Amino acid sequence: MSRTPFLAGNWKMYKTGAEAVAFIEAAKPLLAGTSGRQAALGVPFTAIGEAATAAQGTGILIGAQNVHWEKEGAFTGEISVGMAKAAGASFVILGHSERRQYFGDTDEWVAKKLAAAVDGGIVPVVCLGESLAQRESGDTFKVLGAQIRGSLAGLTAERAAALILAYEPVWAIGTGKTATKEQAQEVHAFLRGELGTLLGDRAASETRILYGGSVKPDNVKALMGEPDIDGALVGGAALKPDSFVQIVKFDL
Ligand code: PEP
Repeated sequence: MSRTPFLAGNWKMYKTGAEAVAFIEAAKPLLAGTSGRQAALGVPFTAIGEAATAAQGTGILIGAQNVHWEKEGAFTGEISVGMAKAAGASFVILGHSERRQYFGDTDEWVAKKLAAAVDGGIVPVVCLGESLAQRESGDTFKVLGAQIRGSLAGLTAERAAALILAYEPVWAIGTGKTATKEQAQEVHAFLRGELGTLLGDRAASETRILYGGSVKPDNVKALMGEPDIDGALVGGAALKPDSFVQIVKFDL
């Protein structure tokens, strides 16, 4: 089964709505006629509406970087799936290591947010990754095994159709240190095996697993050449239209 490459930017806390529009306007002609892949941008909540309008007809999906699991309620500062979707988001990044590290996101919360995203009809991009200390102490697979079981808890094969995973080793995010393609492939193959155990063969073969961690125009092609790497989640190198476009067009 072929898995359409998914090349996504994670803008973190960068760019206003106007800046998002300027980025998309600049990227649009550079991406014209590009097929066989899905380009996507996870933007700040405040930029979703303008970005989604600017992206119409470009094929670029616009998404959020977090959501709350409830539909509405007394949750000051939070945004529901329905709100993100109404603003123009068609996917959401869940469980990014910065959310886990600074804002208390746990596997249990990620599982609840994942369920809300599936219920609300937006694509969940669930991030997993080990720290440097965990890798150096030989715990990478133990940690990732627990994260995937916890973060996908309660998900059934029928509800996993839109699921995307992102392997983002924490030590490679924003550090300029990329996992080698062999290191990344080893983990992606492991995660695909875990998907098989949790959700069955079909989910294992159809779920796209993105790599994230200092992906750049000059290393994306080699990473994408690995059999179990189906895309990239990109921070710093997705903030400039030309470098984002080069990543989207990794093989062209
Ligand atoms: C990220 O934020 O998901 C990320 C991978 O960042 P960077 O590409 O800057 O390492």
